Amino acid sequence: MSRIEKLIAKLPENCDGAIIFSMTNRGYLTEFMSSDGTLLVFRDGAVFITDSRYIEIARKTVKGADVVLQDKLAEQVAEICRDHGAKELMVEQELTLAQFRMFRDGLAGVTLLDGPELSDTIRELRAIKEPKEIELICGAQEITDKAFLEILNFIRPGVTEKQVAAELEYCMRKLGADGLAFGSIVASGENGSMPHAVPGDRKIRKGDLVTMDFGAKLGGYCSDMTRTVAVGKIKEEQLKIYNTVLEAHLSAMAAAKPGCSGKALDAIAREVIDAAGYAGCFGHSLGHSLGLDIHETPMCTPARDYTLPAGTVMTIEPGIYVEGKWGVRIENMILITEDGYRNLTGSERALITLD
Ligand code: ZN
Ligand code: ZN
Repeated sequence: MSRIEKLIAKLPENCDGAIIFSMTNRGYLTEFMSSDGTLLVFRDGAVFITDSRYIEIARKTVKGADVVLQDKLAEQVAEICRDHGAKELMVEQELTLAQFRMFRDGLAGVTLLDGPELSDTIRELRAIKEPKEIELICGAQEITDKAFLEILNFIRPGVTEKQVAAELEYCMRKLGADGLAFGSIVASGENGSMPHAVPGDRKIRKGDLVTMDFGAKLGGYCSDMTRTVAVGKIKEEQLKIYNTVLEAHLSAMAAAKPGCSGKALDAIAREVIDAAGYAGCFGHSLGHSLGLDIHETPMCTPARDYTLPAGTVMTIEPGIYVEGKWGVRIENMILITEDGYRNLTGSERALITLD
């Protein structure tokens, strides 16, 4: 069954089809990534419209839909909808207001169903990875692991966060990455207390903890890893924080299995951190799913209880952030399997100290 057929099988009875416009949803369903395109899904077939930049490769690559050259999009969509007798079409929550209005104004006689159902259904399909998707995520992570080993030779006192980020990114590209999964985070010393610090001009010093959160993109798929390393001798408290985060990370991961609650995994890590005296120092969620996007659902979060099904890739990334002083985060990716989980990240998790 193609991904589009899977979606059709899940469409509620009250609709005749769906318009899929957002880049990653349409890329997922057609197995063709492009910056431009509109996917129209009907019960009797699907049509993918794209412009001349993509038409040649789209005709060869798109799965489960007829490929049509884009002309005047709104009129074209209206005509195709008439051909398929479509009166009620679902649209995604991801549409911008301008995009929604373009379809609404162009489609006289068609009702757009703008509830969350279409986006939720596609999210659920995307949450369970196919073997070829897992292979790409693992390939992206292999590049990320190798880049980490290379960067350890580069980090030394006097080097700036920006230089570390640039070198990391160059390493990933050299190792075969198509691009970055997201803007790399390199946070040294007191900047480490900000979980999403932007790499700056701060020079690394002896006694720093340096947190690097980065990932490669391969075949459209993201990897995501965080490691915190020590430069020179660190203080007792920095070591205590590191070991607490590591224990939280390992404890939460050990409890991962199909059908388990993401909220419960988050609570396991949070309890370890709270018990060590760092309640309130772990402000973000324990983890998220990822794939074509760096953040996907389900999540491991106190804010909402998600069930983690087999076939889902999750990050496990607890951290402790002490304002104005330092921070530690350790992040791996796991695949939820039929009988537990598989760790997808190869890099060492014990503290690495660089001279
Ligand atoms: Zn990350
Ligand atoms: Zn992450």
